[in-house]
Amino acid sequence: MIPADTIVRTTCPYCGVGCQLDLHVHQGVIFRVAAPFDAPPNYGRLCVKGRFGLDFVHHPSRLTVPLIRKEFGKVPRRPVGLDGFREATWDEALDLAAEKLAAIVREHGGDALGTFCSAKATNEDNYLFQKFVRAVLGTNNVDHCARLCHASSVAGLSRTIGSAAMSNSIAEIPHLDVFIVTGSNTTETHPVISTFMRQAIVHNGARLIVVDPRATEMTQFATLWLRQKPGTDVAVFSAMAHVIVKEGLYNEAFIRERTADFEAYAASLDPFTPEWAEEVSGVPADDIRTAARMYASAKAGAIYWGMGITQHSHGTDNVIALSNLALLTGHIGRPHTGLNPLRGQNNVQGCSDSGGLPNVFPGYQRVDDPAIRAKFERAWGVRLNPEVGLTTMEMVEAAERGEIRGYYIMGENPMMSEPNLRHARHVMEQMEFVLVQDIFLNETGAYADIILPATSFAEKDGTFTNTDRRVQRIRKAVPPPGQARADWDIIQELARRVEEKLGRATSAGFDFQHPAEIWAEMAALTPAFQGISYERLEREGGVHWPCPSPDHPGTPYLFADGFPKGRGRFISLQFLPPAEWPDENYPFILSTGRVLYHWHGGTLSRRSRLEDIYPEPTVEIHPDDAERLGIRSGDYVRVRSRRGEIKVRVHVSTRSPRGTVFIPFHFAEAAANELTNDVLDPHAKIPEYKVCAVAVEKWE
Ligand code: SF4
Repeated sequence: MIPADTIVRTTCPYCGVGCQLDLHVHQGVIFRVAAPFDAPPNYGRLCVKGRFGLDFVHHPSRLTVPLIRKEFGKVPRRPVGLDGFREATWDEALDLAAEKLAAIVREHGGDALGTFCSAKATNEDNYLFQKFVRAVLGTNNVDHCARLCHASSVAGLSRTIGSAAMSNSIAEIPHLDVFIVTGSNTTETHPVISTFMRQAIVHNGARLIVVDPRATEMTQFATLWLRQKPGTDVAVFSAMAHVIVKEGLYNEAFIRERTADFEAYAASLDPFTPEWAEEVSGVPADDIRTAARMYASAKAGAIYWGMGITQHSHGTDNVIALSNLALLTGHIGRPHTGLNPLRGQNNVQGCSDSGGLPNVFPGYQRVDDPAIRAKFERAWGVRLNPEVGLTTMEMVEAAERGEIRGYYIMGENPMMSEPNLRHARHVMEQMEFVLVQDIFLNETGAYADIILPATSFAEKDGTFTNTDRRVQRIRKAVPPPGQARADWDIIQELARRVEEKLGRATSAGFDFQHPAEIWAEMAALTPAFQGISYERLEREGGVHWPCPSPDHPGTPYLFADGFPKGRGRFISLQFLPPAEWPDENYPFILSTGRVLYHWHGGTLSRRSRLEDIYPEPTVEIHPDDAERLGIRSGDYVRVRSRRGEIKVRVHVSTRSPRGTVFIPFHFAEAAANELTNDVLDPHAKIPEYKVCAVAVEKWE
């Protein structure tokens, strides 16, 4: 066995569970990954991605020097590979990037720039990124991929209870009583959390209600599986609420003491009978009644959801429907209960917490609140833009109108993650300037004018915040490849140069020596983080925010004493169908999602050993549909929507219901987002990735 020169404790860079890892390093190479048995949240458990998927760190295609496009500034731009770039020094690349950004600010104002921070980067990287964007570029146009996964959770829960983070901790899961999992293929998307859920069922007698059109592994452990038609979630959950109200199963004391607008909401439920919901959703009325009774009569009831709930043109309504159930029954504000949106990427929670959103500074402090803005103006020594910025999808629309002229993209891959990719590509081709900062050349980097090589999670210090609000350290374990630099280091170099080009005195706001100093500045400005420091994280391993003071223990579950909004609000809903529904020309529903072995746009996982296990996408189709189309597993088909088409191999399976096909979104060669619909939820501005109409034809 190879002796380790060093063993470094850090946090997994894939999903939001935030598993703790021990990286065993020999001569600068990670050769083994172990999981410490005494460390939350995973207590020795890892999934295949954390255990075997980290060799992307040493992949030969890592970016190691700054790159400048050979046809710099030529519009329309075309996607190019490495041979379309020339190598540059850091000074040349940073100077040129700063000059282009400053020129756009000078000529058109900061709002002519669109910026994407990163759910894969650290809290410190993201804090500094949004500080640069707001304080130097002068715009609030900063967003990230949370917009594309849990914006509906944010929009919905902000309106009902005032906070969108997971209300309860992972550590509570083994002791659940009754819980609902909906729109989450937990076994593949949050594998370690799913092991705790199965532990609750198998060892502790918990009862699980799965509400999902697709047969996931979790359905095998469910007491009850409600298999609704895609896009009919509001009908099912409102019918459950109808039963709870009509049968008097609601928690009267909780409603009286902690909620508002119950009477109007209860009256609005009259039309949502289980029989009506059966007609709309296909779920038997009696199953809806059983689910309602089981959840309402639980000692503690919890709800977990993923993007199957949020990625709809009415995703905010779906989340509100879940919130209404928790408020009706009082299953919130206690251990083993709660409203729990399972966050996707390793630091998507932290990126939002750190201010990577167009409407809020760190800690969800609104940019359009004059008192809050004044606090940040004092701290940063500049006047700040009072206008709420644009979301990712709004930036694409603004770019199409010529209002956004340049992009700065750190560690995101919108050319894989945007819906209706043909349209997104067309917009990208017209951009005046594109600056990308990443660890690999991916589908988005192919459009860049300048690429700045960044370090991976294993080559820098910092913090990630996992899905249950636990702030945890990452630590430098191996040296960076070539000249790659940490994101926070690149950002402050760029910030200083842009300030200089804009003729401002060099600010003292961008001369940090270590991420700990950046965290300290963010914590001082953010009430929920004020009790968290690097020293404390070193001692305790992790702390759940809110943690307002050094002697505060942190908050594993929220709302024990009240909601940020004061009283939790019931909101009456209408059932609205998806924006696009099957017809003669496009007779199937397409749903998209993840598989166990890959992550997001595949930038990392497809450069790891996981690619050997799962090298190719498939379209999952029901056996009856396959027979009708004359196709078998292994055949290729053309899948077409109104927006594009892809060629993909068939996997015949009963996992998807008749009339619905499923395609994972990790594979550029058959990108599911060529097909998806860019219609948006009006509140969350999230696209409807989960339902669009497609045709499937045998590839002859
Ligand atoms: Fe990493 Fe998530 Fe797997 Fe844990 S469950 S090892 S955090 S990918």
